[in-house]
Amino acid sequence: MSAIESIHISGQWRTAADGGTREILDPADASPLAVVAEGGTADADAAVAAARAAFDSGSWPGTSIADRAAVLRRTADLLQRDREEIARTESRDTGKTLAEARIDVDDVTAAFRWFADLVVNEGGGRVVDAGSPDVHSVVVHEPVGVCALITPWNYPLLQASWKIAPALAAGNTFVVKPSELTPLSTIHLVRLLTEAGLPSGVANLVTGAGAPVGARLAEHPDVDLVSFTGGVVSGTAVAAAAAPTVKKVALELGGKNPNVVFADACATDEGFDTAVDQALNAAFIHSGQVCSAGSRLIIEESVRERFVTELAARADRIRLGRGTAPGVECGALVSARQLERTEEYVASALAEGAVLRCGGERPEPDALIPENGWFHRPTVLDGCRREMRVIREELFAPILTVETFRTEREAVELANDTEYGLAGAVFSADTARARRVAGRMRHGTVWINDYHPYLPQAEWGGFGRSGVGRELGLSGLAEYRETKHVYENLRPAPVRWFAG
Ligand code: NAD
Repeated sequence: MSAIESIHISGQWRTAADGGTREILDPADASPLAVVAEGGTADADAAVAAARAAFDSGSWPGTSIADRAAVLRRTADLLQRDREEIARTESRDTGKTLAEARIDVDDVTAAFRWFADLVVNEGGGRVVDAGSPDVHSVVVHEPVGVCALITPWNYPLLQASWKIAPALAAGNTFVVKPSELTPLSTIHLVRLLTEAGLPSGVANLVTGAGAPVGARLAEHPDVDLVSFTGGVVSGTAVAAAAAPTVKKVALELGGKNPNVVFADACATDEGFDTAVDQALNAAFIHSGQVCSAGSRLIIEESVRERFVTELAARADRIRLGRGTAPGVECGALVSARQLERTEEYVASALAEGAVLRCGGERPEPDALIPENGWFHRPTVLDGCRREMRVIREELFAPILTVETFRTEREAVELANDTEYGLAGAVFSADTARARRVAGRMRHGTVWINDYHPYLPQAEWGGFGRSGVGRELGLSGLAEYRETKHVYENLRPAPVRWFAG
């Protein structure tokens, strides 16, 4: 298998400066899917220099808002043209099902269109009343400059797009570094940006590892902003590396997301079925490798047994297999390391007294589950307590833990008993109660009687250690802008502050 020229600098596709390569593996059977360039510090430096030159030339920041929006809209159209090919690539690279990958492409298309519409519709600056007819005072937005965009492996196309679309809409240039495990859809996206008419040097891509490539981008003196999505450990390293040059830093980190279910939500058969179904969806979509996964079921004690029995029976029937195969509901985990982590968490929970209700092991290979794939059965752990490791740490695995409460106050307290604060849900038939609890939950997104939907028009991001800043919505564009006040004296005259 020959190496793809996966590094894109100043409009040229290249191999790594030192000739390094990396095999990208298919999680479904651990076979090589592609070989890409393994960039290093020299490639990161060259990409930053290209982005800097493109920004300083003023051509993209100086392009009209209408023309920038047109590039975003053409990119959205091209994403839809290549929808099936990109979805297949994403499915094979990450292990997720084809159905999920198609939804990712559609969501990303919507994000490109949202940011195109947003910059066009909001118009130019804001005139400020300076209190004098002799002063014209206006607040305008300008691009920040060169952006380093660092993304994880679970939603490679989506996370890159949530950064690239607003960065371009605001007039920045960028270097994107996808996860070393899953770079393929980002390579495709950068090709589409070029086809959509983006001038060379505006979009640069370096494939390679967190250290050295991501670390170099975070510390580089010519980078003005770093937007990072990934784990807390890498995120804090990025923030520390960015601090000496006082870059703008946006961090989208992990979550430990509560799904709070009140007994009244289960009072009817339909309500019970909905709450169980949504709890499954919350925990096991993309095998739980979702930053907002509802991996922590917090359920009213009186309905626990019936609820968990049904939930475990349904989790047990989830069809595992290669993500691209028809009928498969859950794919493989992204790497051997993720599979080992999952096993470690199950073992630690059982050692601490949790009760295994289903799963807890690798599945037997069959017609849909290849021999060497990194699969783990959906696992429900009952009888969990807040001091257990599986309750304290982000699992990022096909594991659902169960805790119980008796009062509304206890439910809220459990839901907020985490250092994270990304997302969570409350299920209740009592609207006033559901809204009350949602209002008290310290999480960046709260769903009421639903789980997982998000909108490009609404902000996404976390409280606490789930991050700094917001993506999507209005704030998702603001992250990529400087704000400037221009004060113009229309009748200049000496001020005579100094007498001499
Ligand atoms: P990770 O932190 O290991 O890696 C993320 C990215 O950072 C990768 O591109 C990696 O190469 C790079 N990186 C690693 N160390 C670095 C360093 N020192 N300097 C610069 N870059 C570095 O995360 P992951 O395992 O790829 O992804 C899983 C994590 O991402 C989970 O914690 C998940 O919750 C989080 N996540 C958060 C969101 C969100 O919206 N908040 C979305 C998706 C994933």
